[in-house]
Amino acid sequence: MTRLENMKARYKSEPTIISQLPLKLPNGCEVSEISSSCADCGTEVPHQHLRGHVSRPIPDAVAFNGHGLCSTCITIFPLHGRVRAHGDGMRMEWIKGGRWVSGMLESDTLTGKLRLWLKRQLRTLVR
Ligand SMILES: [Zn+2]
Repeated sequence: MTRLENMKARYKSEPTIISQLPLKLPNGCEVSEISSSCADCGTEVPHQHLRGHVSRPIPDAVAFNGHGLCSTCITIFPLHGRVRAHGDGMRMEWIKGGRWVSGMLESDTLTGKLRLWLKRQLRTLVR
């Protein structure tokens, strides 16, 4: 199976990421959604087209690993990262150039910031 075939097979068989949220972190922050835009055309990908596994590798982290599908330009792209409790807020970690990097998310208007942050980072990630 080629890498693309493998991505497609996983996409078809895995549940939506939004169906596995929200999840609460021990500090009270809630991971309510994971959003992404298409890497190629920038179209916001609807939640039902973001699929994969959401897990709790450790109690204070929510990890996601899957794929997004853009129906505008028919592009499939990987979605991979994690959100960790950090003080009163959350820290987002994702893979960039083969390494884990991270940035803080503030706790006020967390959902909005998380969404924007992920959109920006995931766009970078898939280039
Ligand atoms: Zn697209």
